[in-house]
Amino acid sequence: MNMTNGPVLLTPGPLTTSARVKAAMQRDWGSRDPAFVRLGLRTFERVAQLAGAGPDHVCVPLQGSGTFAIEAMIGSLVAPHEKLLVLVNGAYGRRIVEIARRLARKVDTFEVPETGTHDVDDLARRLRGAEAPDVVAMVHCETTSGLLNPLESIATCVRNAGKRLLVDSMSGFGALPLDMAAMGIEAVAASSNKCLQGVPGVSFVVCSRDALEARAGAAPSLVLDLAGQARGFEVDGQWRFTPPTHVVAALAEALDELDEEGGPPARLARYRENCRILVEGFGELGMTPALDPALQAPVIVSFREPGEPWYAFEPFYAALEQRGFAIYAGKMRDVGTFRVGTIGAVDAAIMRAFVGEAAAVVTELKQKLKGGS
Ligand SMILES: *Cc1c(COP(=O)(O)O)cnc(C)c1O
Repeated sequence: MNMTNGPVLLTPGPLTTSARVKAAMQRDWGSRDPAFVRLGLRTFERVAQLAGAGPDHVCVPLQGSGTFAIEAMIGSLVAPHEKLLVLVNGAYGRRIVEIARRLARKVDTFEVPETGTHDVDDLARRLRGAEAPDVVAMVHCETTSGLLNPLESIATCVRNAGKRLLVDSMSGFGALPLDMAAMGIEAVAASSNKCLQGVPGVSFVVCSRDALEARAGAAPSLVLDLAGQARGFEVDGQWRFTPPTHVVAALAEALDELDEEGGPPARLARYRENCRILVEGFGELGMTPALDPALQAPVIVSFREPGEPWYAFEPFYAALEQRGFAIYAGKMRDVGTFRVGTIGAVDAAIMRAFVGEAAAVVTELKQKLKGGS
């Protein structure tokens, strides 16, 4: 494995990016350079298209990682008097709850186990009556486990109840199908460094212009004020504060790559194949996913930790890293897991090489145990 750029990252992001995306960061752009301004506007227009935005949606980029976009979305679109219901089945759902609490929003949770999804009829009941929430927030792909939440049926349920829906679509954006105009979604938050295969440093909220304008000037934060940020772009195409120029240039290149690959369906197909090779290969090593295959998104797989004496996460991780692959610690609450990502500039050949190295590592660790060293 070529280690000049470090190990292949089989993680939830940042991910392995292509040489081409890294090369796009060689140029220093002035933030007010008209060519940079044009590049940015076009790039975020393309991001809006990937979200399935309609004419009344706008893409608002923000400096910072994905959580910055989530916090901006909640603070800018949920008013203090409104009730927010968060659908929770993992750590990222719980993070939305924490953000809402910090912002002193009225927040309620509908929590189900991390290995399951929310019953839509139950949700419909919770959205009826005088005490019902005004806004619902959910996570599209729960990266905690790798679970794909049923966005379309939840969106239909929320829309039928006449409520608004905010979506954390971070870990699947650019690969998983998303059509926010058709689904009637008010806002979607995502970032550059997951399925878009850019580098970390920029995130965005694609959201309804009306919702943004309805609460203009009311966000509790200056830097995370989506309406303020959007107004800056409308006035002169400029970022209000220093833009992550290299990151935007890398994202523009990454979007070209996405187009050349065949768009989100082709990317999803590649990730599916990565996931299939991984799950099959690890299955042969006696390691099984924590989720029902029907709920698994081809983004990241949580494997149950083998309950065998040869296994401990640290040495397993270190041996794989030495062989050129970085995996990720588990995050599920009730079951010991480790995670392996299937996204990024990673193809079937790399995934097969990884499975081969993992097999060698398992043999090595088992032998070490026998040798008593
Ligand atoms: C990655 C991710 C985020 C954002 O995390 P950051 O560390 O702030 O980039 C949010 N939600 C989900 C589901 C994610 O996978």
